[in-house]
Amino acid sequence: MKRKLRSTNGKVAARKVDRRRSAAVPRVTLIPGDGVGPEVIGAAIRVVSESGVEIEWDRQLAGAAALKQVGNPLPEALMRSLKRTHVALKGPLETRIGEGYRSINVYLRKAFNLYANLRPTVSFSGVNSRFRDVDLVVVRENTEDVYAGLEHQLTPGVVESIKLITARASTRIARFAFDYARREKRHLVTAIHKANIMKLSDGLFLKCARQVARRYPEIKYEEQIVDAACMRLVTNPAAFDVLLLENLYGDIVSDLCAGLVGGLGMVPGANYGDKGAIFEAVHGTAPDIAGKGVANPVAAILSASMLLDYLGYEEVGQRIRSATAQVLRSGQVLTRDLGGTATTDELTDAIVRVLHQTSEAAASLPA
Ligand code: NAD
Repeated sequence: MKRKLRSTNGKVAARKVDRRRSAAVPRVTLIPGDGVGPEVIGAAIRVVSESGVEIEWDRQLAGAAALKQVGNPLPEALMRSLKRTHVALKGPLETRIGEGYRSINVYLRKAFNLYANLRPTVSFSGVNSRFRDVDLVVVRENTEDVYAGLEHQLTPGVVESIKLITARASTRIARFAFDYARREKRHLVTAIHKANIMKLSDGLFLKCARQVARRYPEIKYEEQIVDAACMRLVTNPAAFDVLLLENLYGDIVSDLCAGLVGGLGMVPGANYGDKGAIFEAVHGTAPDIAGKGVANPVAAILSASMLLDYLGYEEVGQRIRSATAQVLRSGQVLTRDLGGTATTDELTDAIVRVLHQTSEAAASLPA
């Protein structure tokens, strides 16, 4: 990729644990998830293990896999594990369309108050995509908006879905975005909204963002209506830097941004709260390719590198990002979604090989 891969740490709003100072092996809840989840999460934990970082994984079921095995998509054992570890690496979970149990993803984000969803979206050399130098970060409010799924039937044929927006959550996410921008030396935060129509709800979101922006004079602040922002993103993504969005717009715009850099297999993510974090790729269960061994593991591997940053192993997280970039740059080992023929395992093997080479090279340098 063209630019140095940035640290993706969300420590501005998250409890950061410097594990190197304490001898304890970090304990992390591991949720392989549904569909391609076990394949890409398997790849991610292999890369972490080969990086030399020791983690005690507490493997837990959730979603469709849990429903099938223990009759409950949200087992008590999973909740107990998360309350103990406060941190998880998670695969995607299936949520049925228009029926079935409520989204476990949304439930977990709300239950542990993981209010900030951070999704760094970066072009990689060697990955064929419409743009070459995309370097954006989506910051999405994660706990409210229509995405909270507060809806009910008023009478048959009439339903109501509630868009709840609060000043508290809007101010909190705006602060997260500006703190992140300041720490990562980003120059612009763009709040994306539809306040021309939803004058009260999106209006409040904007009002809070403006108030916060005043406290960060060195960072430029802009606003754009969501439809126009989508057009501008697909014609000139360089016009953006940090995107600040409510929950639903953030969800949709994240996938649009993934399309700018080669697809959903490329974009990692993290859900941060003040007391914990869950790391997961932007993509879903990819049922069309599940079980075939061809899913792109990059998004999951990069999500694991964000987990390592969070745990205090930033240098190792950076080495994983560099090894991934080096493999992609060679263009030799690419999965099908990137126009290649490699399997999940082959791409993972290639990343592990480069990781070993770079750590051997570092070890052979004079002290
Ligand atoms: P999806 O992201 O699963 O798939 C969309 C397209 O992208 C598919 O063509 C798929 O093959 C491709 N794709 C996704 N990940 C890929 C990867 N790693 N490598 C290669 N190609 C990849 O979206 P969907 O089909 O709309 O949703 C499927 C299920 O996933 C639904 O049940 C949905 O609710 C769920 N979902 C879960 C999460 C989550 O757990 N965080 C996020 C999004 C969707």
